[in-house]
Amino acid sequence: MTLVTNLGFPRIGAKRELKSALESHWRGEASAQELQDVARDLRQRHWRVQREAGADVVPCNDFSLYDHVLDTAFLFDAVPERYRALADRDPLAGYFALARGVQTGGFDLPALEMTKWFDTNYHYLVPELHGGQSFRLRGDKPVAEYLEARQLGLDARPVLLGPVSFLLLSKTTDGSDRLQLLDRLLPVYAELLERLKNAGASWVQIDEPCLVLDQDADDHAAYRRAYAALAAADRPKLMLATYFGALGDNLDLAMELAVDGLHVDLVRAPEQLDAVLDALPADRVLSIGVVDGRNVWRCDLDRALERLRQVQQRVGADRLQVAPSCSLLHVPVDAKLETELPANMLAWLAFATQKLDELRVLVDAAKDAFYTASTLELARERRESRRTSRKVHKPQVAQRVDALKADDTRRRSSYPERRSAQQAWMRLPPFPTTTIGSFPQTKDVRQARARHRAGKLSDAGYDAFLAAETERCVRFQEDIGIDVLVHGEFERNDMVEYFGEQLDGFAFTQNGWVQSYGSRCVKPPIIYGDVQRPAAMTVRWSQYAQSLTAKPMKGMLTGPVTMLQWSFVRDDQTRAATCRQIALALRDEVLDLERAGIRVIQIDEPALREGLPLRRADWPAYLAWAVECFRISAAGVADDTQIHTHMCYSEFNDIIDAVAAMDADVISIETSRSRMELLDAFVRFRYPNEIGPGVYDIHSPRLPSVEEMTALLRKAAAVLDAGQLWVNPDCGLKTRGWPETRAALVAMVEAARGLRAASAQAA
Ligand code: GLN
Ligand code: ZN
Repeated sequence: MTLVTNLGFPRIGAKRELKSALESHWRGEASAQELQDVARDLRQRHWRVQREAGADVVPCNDFSLYDHVLDTAFLFDAVPERYRALADRDPLAGYFALARGVQTGGFDLPALEMTKWFDTNYHYLVPELHGGQSFRLRGDKPVAEYLEARQLGLDARPVLLGPVSFLLLSKTTDGSDRLQLLDRLLPVYAELLERLKNAGASWVQIDEPCLVLDQDADDHAAYRRAYAALAAADRPKLMLATYFGALGDNLDLAMELAVDGLHVDLVRAPEQLDAVLDALPADRVLSIGVVDGRNVWRCDLDRALERLRQVQQRVGADRLQVAPSCSLLHVPVDAKLETELPANMLAWLAFATQKLDELRVLVDAAKDAFYTASTLELARERRESRRTSRKVHKPQVAQRVDALKADDTRRRSSYPERRSAQQAWMRLPPFPTTTIGSFPQTKDVRQARARHRAGKLSDAGYDAFLAAETERCVRFQEDIGIDVLVHGEFERNDMVEYFGEQLDGFAFTQNGWVQSYGSRCVKPPIIYGDVQRPAAMTVRWSQYAQSLTAKPMKGMLTGPVTMLQWSFVRDDQTRAATCRQIALALRDEVLDLERAGIRVIQIDEPALREGLPLRRADWPAYLAWAVECFRISAAGVADDTQIHTHMCYSEFNDIIDAVAAMDADVISIETSRSRMELLDAFVRFRYPNEIGPGVYDIHSPRLPSVEEMTALLRKAAAVLDAGQLWVNPDCGLKTRGWPETRAALVAMVEAARGLRAASAQAA
């Protein structure tokens, strides 16, 4: 019998119950016990939901109070020395110290480093290991959660992060090779598996998502060693789970490993099916991920059913499991909670709960089509309504994309010509100063927005409030001597949502929360239809701000790639096609700004790098359309209009060609945390246009001194042409308060002036 299985369920709760519980615990308002009670209730509720939706096998240990990679590190006692005293005394407090740092009770510890989980918007904590690392079991989380499920009568399948991916996702602090630690780690995995078996577990899901990445010979050797060792353990059966892409050149290796089952992602990589079927050993269970765990659309059940039948014929119904492509961690819990979506749209959506329903229908339909005929028919109707919807398909939008010509992606003149045209009117001093866009989103600002949304503050009242904030911000920048001003972005809630709300083709949910890290969740917009701009989006506030000052006012837009990257996107056309539509809408906005007298325009692309595909071979194609889209947005302007872009938190070395190909007149980047190291790429590449390496870290409330910023600028000026350099913070200031913003920017302007004086003297 083919089983419906699940690889992981969202932990945070449909209404973000875990977030509330965590945050009240951190504020000291809820005890550890109260937090654990909420956590247990959520686990139990989620198991029930999954069973009711028809899952035969539910996961356990997919739950986490903060992050499953941190759980793994903690479980194997990979706790760096400095946290150990706290973790030994109070494990939960120690765990949260690793997750978010601690500054109480005599402890002053920063959090572990955090980074993106593959190409998702989930962030995990990077385990910190060292050459002398030892491992042992600390606590029994997977066993305890297995037993908890068992009390409800479920033989749940514990999820473990596999040993090789665990090490590959970690870092060592002493430069030693992570994989050297494998032999020390494996006995502890074996011990854990044995305990799970003794507790009654029949299967364990062991995740090795790194098997879809480029892996070298050392990595391959590590998988071989690891699974040979685990084969010898007294253990439950192992379902080796891979997801987020194709096994590709790791396929033969995956087949070689002595496990009992293999899960493959057939949503991201449907093309791998034949190769998988050809290579699958006769005794191995196959789990096929046919429902998209990364997106919110209903599945094409007819197509999935056809594939399921085909696989059943090859491997037999009993050797087959059907699952989402990956853990459902990356989608919201239940679409039924949405009551305010545009007409019909709800019928097109499947969140975690609906995805399990779909899997059930598929397996039932493969067994006996009679009872599922009406469900399949309904699914067909829904699909058809989406396929033919006029809210989705706007022929003029597709036509405009088709009509794009090479010229539309090129500025009229080359950078040197544009530079003189811009210098002629801007007459900026050397080392011109600017900021990245947002100014403090104070409590007042957030409250005014909330009251306006709730209907407690009139449109006129809200406008007056925003006008006053904007004016104050403009005056402030003039007073302290900033050269290129911004309006402050007080009217914006979020850099994607603000634009999405004004564009056709974007929808917003009420409860579509997805965990980003720890208690932090995001509610990504859903791009469901052709994107079009019914009216100007930012002209009004930029124009108002420009009217207040004779200095250049910089218009501020979120770039097409970033909007795409931070949304759920359509699955009925390519990402590139959707991105081009957004780019065209932004191009219109850019031209409207220019017509309204805004002659400096910044198009932010902080997410450009994170859109990079997991496999290196796929990078060029992505970068080509991503850069093209940026250029479509920017290229319509006259030579003397200055285009800026901004990117934060990026390693530029391997994408510097693409960054240069964006051909922005000025790029501001985050560099202060790396003490200008991130500039290296720009230096080596001989970046031709202007560049603003951030001179202070806006993520920290700490005040940078004039000397520090001067030193950083000198460092930059030593390797770049002084005429190329701008002076600005690392990123937007929205998370900071006014007093620190004022002090930091005053010091920043002073640093720029000092440099000007010094270079005037030298000349
Ligand atoms: N203009 C945006 C701001 O200043 C840029 C934010 C970002 O880079 N993430 O807030
Ligand atoms: Zn930034």
